[in-house]
Amino acid sequence: MISLQNVTKVYNTKNNKVTAVDDINLTINSGEIYGIIGYSGAGKSTLIRLLNGLEKPSKGLITVAGHEITKAKGGSLRKARREISMIFQHFNLLWSRTVRENIAFPLEINGVPKKDRLKRVDELIKLVGLEGRENAYPSQLSGGQKQRVGIARALANNPKVLLCDEATSALDPQTTDSILELLVDINERLGLTIVLITHEMHVIRKICHRVAVMESGMVVEQGEVLDVFKKP
Ligand code: ADP
Ligand code: ADP
Repeated sequence: MISLQNVTKVYNTKNNKVTAVDDINLTINSGEIYGIIGYSGAGKSTLIRLLNGLEKPSKGLITVAGHEITKAKGGSLRKARREISMIFQHFNLLWSRTVRENIAFPLEINGVPKKDRLKRVDELIKLVGLEGRENAYPSQLSGGQKQRVGIARALANNPKVLLCDEATSALDPQTTDSILELLVDINERLGLTIVLITHEMHVIRKICHRVAVMESGMVVEQGEVLDVFKKP
C-alpha cells in the first residue's frame, strides 16, 4: 500500500542544512496498522508530510495506493491525495460548524450532492458512535468526541490510508483507549490501512501490527511490535 525507497528530506535553512529524513526504506502493507515511534525531532512529522504529498523528498521514491506521489503533479497528485486522509492531535475541526457540518465538509468540497451527503454523514456518525451529538458544536464536545468527529471527517471520502499524527496525545488514558479501539474497529471493518505516528509506546503496543523506530531521521529498527519491544 505504501512504499518508501531511499527517501531523504533535507531542509535548507538560511544557515544550515537539516536532514530530517535520512535514507528511509519502508513497506506498509494493505490493511495493516503500522506505527512510527520516535522522540521529538526524530523526523516523524516530516515523514507524514512526505506521505500525504505536502512535501517532496530531496531523494527517493514514495508510492501510496499505487500512485507514485513523488512525481505526481496537478490532477494526479490531487487524486493520489484523496486516497490518503489524516487525523490530528488538536483535531483541526471547524469551530463555527456543527458535528454534522464538520463531517459533511470534505463531501461538499468533493461535490457530493446534498442527498448523498446526508446519507453518508448519518453512516459516519453511527460508525464513530456520535449518535445524538449531530447538532453539537465542537466546543460542546469532550476531547474524545472531538476526535471521533475528526475520524468521521477523515473517512468521509473513503480513503485507502488513514494517517494519524499524535492523534491521542491530547487525550486522557481512558479516552485514548476508546479512540484506539475505534481505530482497530475501523481497520477491521473497512480494511483501512492505518499509519500512526506517536511518541507513546503504549499506543504502539495496544494496536499496531508492526512498528518502525525513528531516530535522527533514520529508521533504527523495524518489525513486529512484539519483536521490537520484547519485554526484558
Ligand atoms: P518530529 O515530528 O519527530 O518531532 P520533525 O519532522 O518535526 O520531527 O523534525 C525533524 C528535524 O527536521 C528537526 O531537526 C526539525 O528541527 C527539522 N525541521 C522540521 N521541519 C523543518 C522545516 N520546515 N525547516 C527546517 N527544519 C525543519
Ligand atoms: P485541545 O486540542 O488541547 O483539546 P481545543 O480543542 O480547545 O484544545 O483547541 C484546539 C485548537 O483549536 C487550539 O489551537 C485552539 O486555539 C483552537 N480553538 C478552540 N476553540 C476555538 C474556537 N471556538 N474558535 C476558533 N479556534 C478555536
